[in-house]
Amino acid sequence: MATSSDEHRRTMAFAEIALGQIKALRQPATPRHFEVWYCYATGYHPTLNETINEILSRCGSLSDAEIDRLYDTYLSPTRLSDRIDKVGDRVMDEIEQVMAMVDAAVGSANNCSESLAGVSRNLPGADREGLRGIVESLVQTAKEMETVNQKLEERLSASKREINELQENLEVVRTESLTDPLTSLANRKYFDQALAEAISEAISDNETMSLLMTDIDHFKTFNDTYGHLTGDQVLRLVALSVKQNVKGQDIAARYGGEEFAIILPNTVLRSAVTVADHIRRAVMSKELMKRSTGEHLGRITISIGVATLRPGDSAQSLIGRADSCLYAAKRAGRNRVICEADPEMSMAPATAVA
Ligand code: GH3
Ligand code: MG
Ligand code: MG
Repeated sequence: MATSSDEHRRTMAFAEIALGQIKALRQPATPRHFEVWYCYATGYHPTLNETINEILSRCGSLSDAEIDRLYDTYLSPTRLSDRIDKVGDRVMDEIEQVMAMVDAAVGSANNCSESLAGVSRNLPGADREGLRGIVESLVQTAKEMETVNQKLEERLSASKREINELQENLEVVRTESLTDPLTSLANRKYFDQALAEAISEAISDNETMSLLMTDIDHFKTFNDTYGHLTGDQVLRLVALSVKQNVKGQDIAARYGGEEFAIILPNTVLRSAVTVADHIRRAVMSKELMKRSTGEHLGRITISIGVATLRPGDSAQSLIGRADSCLYAAKRAGRNRVICEADPEMSMAPATAVA
């Protein structure tokens, strides 16, 4: 866990970058400007940074309106619910328009049956001229109905397209609210839901499942030596190693700052240890280099704890055991995988609380 003085230094570095940008661009130092630049300094929202870099290289500065727009798009706490509300409003509009079309179509159908009723009343006594009039009015009614039906059909297929698009928008918002922006892995909120689901599915299908908890070794020293922005790149790299070593049904999430959790459905302890070891080896095999300067930063390692579901387990008890294994891996020298069947665990003291 980071100490409060680490946190102070780390956040002051971001704050200084943010103020530096405000000064350099001679912008108003309002909380909103500061928040946008602070977030830029952390690099947590890669698309925010890309957008800012693109505007800066095009115009050399950012207007207040652009700051507002960036804030609304990436940072405003209400942005997701606003977007969901907007989708909801558009769905209501669509439904109202379709209902109005259906009402109009029902009205035309009523007119049509009235005119048919008139025809059947007038038919018995009609002479030749009268028959011609009746046929003409039948043709006219049929044409009108055809036009109304065609319009309704066009409107319905336009609505279908619109509603499909809205559904996709909602899906994007949902995915965004469950994704960690730095690593693009699932976030903690998603992980909590997914773990509860995986446990209840394992119980109801009488299957097993395992959980990996990973933590980067000596990451504080790495950050202190090379800076947090480089540290963030390392977090991305570790996330990539995790992603590349899990399969479709597995769920990899950023559990906390430099901790990742991986849910492995239908996986026994031994296989989970194998997955964990692949991830560990993938991380240590990477030679790190600072892209901007070409400086070699050595390698980093991770420790992993592995637990498997037992009868009576809750999410909390399963996480607790995986965490105990993780601490045992740290105590045993780091850069290793320890599972609950390992000898280190039979003599492990009660779980330390980080
Ligand atoms: P250990 O091997 O015992 O895990 O040592 P450690 O230094 O990794 O452990 P500790 O928990 O003391 O430190 C975790 C560090 O992770 C503190 C903080 O600097 C860093 N960290 C946490 N979240 C982030 C983040 O989002 N970005 C960066 N760059 N660093 C982070
Ligand atoms: Mg940690
Ligand atoms: Mg650590």
